[in-house]
Amino acid sequence: SIRCESGPNRSGLLREIRTDIRSEPFTERYDVIPGKELGRGKFAVVRKCVEKSSGKTYAAKYMRKRRKGQDCRTEILHEIAVLELAALCPRVVNLHQVYETASEMVLVLEYAAGGEIFTQCVADRDEAFSERDVKRLMKQILEGVSFLHRNNVVHLDLKPQNILLTSECPVGDIKVVDFGLSRLVSSGQELREIMGTPEYVAPEILNYEPISTATDMWSIGVLAYVMLTGISPFLGDNKQETFLNISQINISYSEEELQRLDGDAIGFIKSLLIKEPESRATAEDCLRHRWLQTDESPDEDEDEEELIVMASYTLGGCRQSSETDGLT
Ligand code: ADP
Ligand code: MG
Repeated sequence: SIRCESGPNRSGLLREIRTDIRSEPFTERYDVIPGKELGRGKFAVVRKCVEKSSGKTYAAKYMRKRRKGQDCRTEILHEIAVLELAALCPRVVNLHQVYETASEMVLVLEYAAGGEIFTQCVADRDEAFSERDVKRLMKQILEGVSFLHRNNVVHLDLKPQNILLTSECPVGDIKVVDFGLSRLVSSGQELREIMGTPEYVAPEILNYEPISTATDMWSIGVLAYVMLTGISPFLGDNKQETFLNISQINISYSEEELQRLDGDAIGFIKSLLIKEPESRATAEDCLRHRWLQTDESPDEDEDEEELIVMASYTLGGCRQSSETDGLT
């Protein structure tokens, strides 16, 4: 991720939380599973743990309070507040408890056993998501994002590493995680240039223009492209090249991986990867998009069958209405 070099941008942060911050040692109540961590970011490590009293598995996100010499407790409290705000949304990871030590805060989160969707995005195409999977998962991502946007929260770091699955095989349901860059956009104050991850960042971030819920929708467009093709559409050989590709919307829709898909999939992506934020589809628009209306792309036989059934309905309808016509 890239962050504002001039220190933390503290506008749009929630400051009040209702979760009890526990000061007893975390390990009094949890067994930390030794071995490989679940994930790691610049300032956080996530480990699998089991609550002793319940035997339930959780993911513990250990967050350093000091980063590059700056106290970031305010940012962590904001992340907690956003998780609280989204507690009723099944598409956002649930927060169970919070612990604090002198140097760290530990967020005990619902465990998403399927890991990052990133794994399937970069897998060989035969192990990657099917278009049917992508449609179902994309609907769920949009439900989560729509919930956040209705509550004036922008995530600002939507990417395959921050979208987890409840199970991997069969492909489970999604959980949106990592509200470390998220902001409130209703405060009347304009928000500009919060960071993000180069490949997923919207043009307005690069141009130091106002951030809005549409900024997330750009990332959803990139996400859809990556989930369907395994290709990161704007990725260049270096950061500068990536940023240039984004600001020029230098993107190819003629990749073989895209041509194989339902034409509506490309239409969906094109409705999001638009330079002007005002012109992009909203999360609600996306949920109504034609691409996401059909549950699956039926194979040809099923298609034919469906047409025959439709034809007989139409005929039935006609006959009935003409009979009615005849009576009056
Ligand atoms: P960061 O701010 O450092 O990116 P994240 O919240 O994204 O922190 O967590 C880092 C990684 O840890 C995620 O990309 C994911 O792989 C893993 N992870 C985070 N939360 C969970 C969870 N609830 N269940 C399973 N794995 C998780
Ligand atoms: Mg992350």
